[in-house]
Amino acid sequence: MTTEHKGFSTRAIHDGQEPEALTGAVGVPIYATSTYRQDELGKPRLGYEYSRVSNPTRDRLETNLASLEGGVAARVFASGMAAVTAFCQMMTARDHVVAGDNLYGGTSRFFNQVMAKFGVIFTYVDTRNPENVAAAMRSNTRYVFLETPTNPLMALTDIAEVSAVAHAIGAKVIVDNTFMSPYFQRPLELGADMVLHSTTKFLNGHSDGLGGVIVCSTEEQAADLAFLQKASGAILSPFESWLILRGVKTLAVRMKQHDLNGRAVAEYLQKHPRVEKVIYPGLAQHPQHELAKRQMKGFGSMITIETGSLENVKKLVKQLKVCVLGESLGGVETLISHPATMTHAAVGEEGRAKIGLTDGMVRISVGIEDVDDILADLEQALAAM
Ligand code: PLP
Repeated sequence: MTTEHKGFSTRAIHDGQEPEALTGAVGVPIYATSTYRQDELGKPRLGYEYSRVSNPTRDRLETNLASLEGGVAARVFASGMAAVTAFCQMMTARDHVVAGDNLYGGTSRFFNQVMAKFGVIFTYVDTRNPENVAAAMRSNTRYVFLETPTNPLMALTDIAEVSAVAHAIGAKVIVDNTFMSPYFQRPLELGADMVLHSTTKFLNGHSDGLGGVIVCSTEEQAADLAFLQKASGAILSPFESWLILRGVKTLAVRMKQHDLNGRAVAEYLQKHPRVEKVIYPGLAQHPQHELAKRQMKGFGSMITIETGSLENVKKLVKQLKVCVLGESLGGVETLISHPATMTHAAVGEEGRAKIGLTDGMVRISVGIEDVDDILADLEQALAAM
C-alpha cells in the first residue's frame, strides 16, 4: 500500500514503513529468517517460503523505493553492481546496448569484461547529444543505459529526448540515478523505463551498507527481476534492507542540506586561485546548467575539480582533516576521491584520456557537516598544493 498522493517526505517515512501488525512496532522489523513455517503442504503463510525468493523486510523496502521513484515496483539487490548484473541478465546474446561513454568504472568493467563474453554488444557514445544515441541505434538495440549526471565528469543527458529516440525503435531506457536520488530527479516521469541506484550512496546515506535497486515501470519488468532474484540469488539481506529503510526516512532533509552545502563549496572552489576548474551543474558556467535546472529539482553535492596534477592531488588529500579520503559518495560525511586511481582505474589511461578524465581531477561528495568546517578544511588542504 502506498500513500500515492502524499508529498515526498511523507512517502519516504510511511510507504512500506507502516507499523507492524502484531505489536504495532513503528520500526520495520528485521525478519532474520531464511525460511518460514508452512501450515500445510503447499500453503505458505502470506506466500513466504524462502528468503532468497521473498522476505518481509525486503518487501517493505521495495514498496518504499518504488513509491519514491514513481514506479510500479522495485527489486533490491546485494549491491549497485548486483543490480547492474540483474539488469544484464534480462538480455540474451546478440542484444545490443547503447551506453554513455562516462559510466561508473565498475559498470563499464562489468559490461566489457563479463557481459561481452556472453555475446551482449555495447556501444559507448557521448549521450549529451541525443543525435549520437540515434546514430548508434541498431535493429537489435534493446536498451540505452544512462548515467546523468555522469561520474565524475558531471555531464548531463536529456532523459526525455533520449527516451524519445530509444522508443522510436522500440528500445528501452534505464537510468542510473545514484548521483541525484529520486528527491532531485525522477527519470520515469521524464520517459525512462527503468531506474537503477547504488543504494550504497544517497538512498542509504550513512556509508554503512551496500545495496542496489532497479525500479520498474511495468509489471513485466518487475516479474522478470523477481525471477532473477530467485534464480541468481544476489538479493539484499534483511539487515541491509532495514538500514536503507531507516536511512531513506531522512532522504529529503539530507538532500536539501547536501544541495545547500554543495552549492556553497562549488562557489568557494570556483573563486579559489589554485583550482583550475570546477565542474558542478549548479554553476551558471556549467555548459548544461539550463538542462540541469529543467531536469533536476536541485543540483546535489557532487563536484569535480581540476587541481592540475597527480602531485597536487597527493598533497591536497594528505592534509584533509574533516573531509574523508575514500571511495564512495552520498554519505553524511564529505568524501573525497581520486577517480583516476579509484573509481575509474579499470577504465584505463586511454579510456580516461578519451573522455577527458585527468590525473589531476578530484571528486568531492559534499556531506552535511557544518559547511564552514568543510570550507576551512578545503582551504587548509588547498594551501598545501
Ligand atoms: N553506479 C554508480 C553511479 C556508482 O557510483 C556506483 C558505485 O560507486 C555503482 C553504480 C555501483 O554500486 P555498488 O558500489 O553499490 O556496487
